[in-house]
Amino acid sequence: MEPLTPLHELGEFALIRRLQQHIELRQPSTVLGIGDDAAIIAPAAGQELVMTTDLLVEGVHFDLTFSPLRHLGYKAVAVNVSDVAAMNALPTQLVVALSIPARYSVEAIEELYEGLRLACEAYNVDLVGGDTTASRGGLTIGITVLGQVEAGKAVPRSGGRPTDILCVSGDLGGAFLGLQVLEREKQAFLADPETQPELDAYDYVVGRQLRPEARLDIIHELRELGLTPTSMIDISDGLAAEVLHLCAASGTGARVFSEYLPLAQPTLEAAAEFNLDPLTCALNGGEDYELLFTLPVAEHAKIKNHPDITVIGHLTEQNDAVNLITRAGQAVPLQAQGFKHF
Ligand code: ADP
Ligand code: MG
Repeated sequence: MEPLTPLHELGEFALIRRLQQHIELRQPSTVLGIGDDAAIIAPAAGQELVMTTDLLVEGVHFDLTFSPLRHLGYKAVAVNVSDVAAMNALPTQLVVALSIPARYSVEAIEELYEGLRLACEAYNVDLVGGDTTASRGGLTIGITVLGQVEAGKAVPRSGGRPTDILCVSGDLGGAFLGLQVLEREKQAFLADPETQPELDAYDYVVGRQLRPEARLDIIHELRELGLTPTSMIDISDGLAAEVLHLCAASGTGARVFSEYLPLAQPTLEAAAEFNLDPLTCALNGGEDYELLFTLPVAEHAKIKNHPDITVIGHLTEQNDAVNLITRAGQAVPLQAQGFKHF
């Protein structure tokens, strides 16, 4: 194996030059990328800009014992793009702020950038700048994404109306179970470093945790169907928390039917193995990065056969509260028990 290059051997400027080498620009709105004091963006006429930022902190949001740096780079972009998608916008540019502990090698940071680069390619985003500093603690990755949406077409959380149908993309609960698998393997490894991780049977849920995808595909498909959601939010903290956010912003109640919640087969199997209720994983697990949105009930026919969109309930008048309707027909108030970082 080639020896690793310590960061101090290269210095900040040479590091940035090296990281910049593989970066391509694709967006017509990027006038100037990395290399000057700031990037220059020329938004297309008639478009509004949306902007969002997310911070990933070692030991809080990720654990490098089981999170490969390449996946981490990809995920850091995906979670931000997911927020842009949840506004009904398409991402165009991003900047990356890195705070790197001295123990990291240049090669490790290049791995992280390979993940960033792959995500930029997948989501058609230009990496146009950043900042790089040393860290006395862990690794911190801050990403800010800029996106564009036709003026007036951005979708807030607040546009939901009573009787609107409540839809989710993909399936839920997988990322949380992936984390349980990874934590278990980590404990087994710490107890006996000779053990080999047994992850093959859990490819799906582990992938959901380590390499989530932002659902830009759903944004494109809704546009093709001529549908604009009345309200939308991405599911980062668990479905229950997001339904409550959407209802609070829209001034509505909701009925969510537990029997309609989309659960993938590998998620059901992992939940059974960990003795966890898959519904609880879907409602409170977090990090699925699917989209939750509402549509007027009159549009139901346009999505009802869509393989990747599930109607899970509908909005109601505010005084009806936000309830989960169980299989037995019982109404139970939804409670947010999303990830607590503090
Ligand atoms: P300044 O002192 O003006 O902040 P820097 O030396 O930090 O300049 O950055 C020089 C250029 O390199 C800028 O265009 C900046 O956006 C870019 N840059 C710095 N760090 C990163 C990074 N981690 N990833 C991408 N671009 C970066
Ligand atoms: Mg700087």
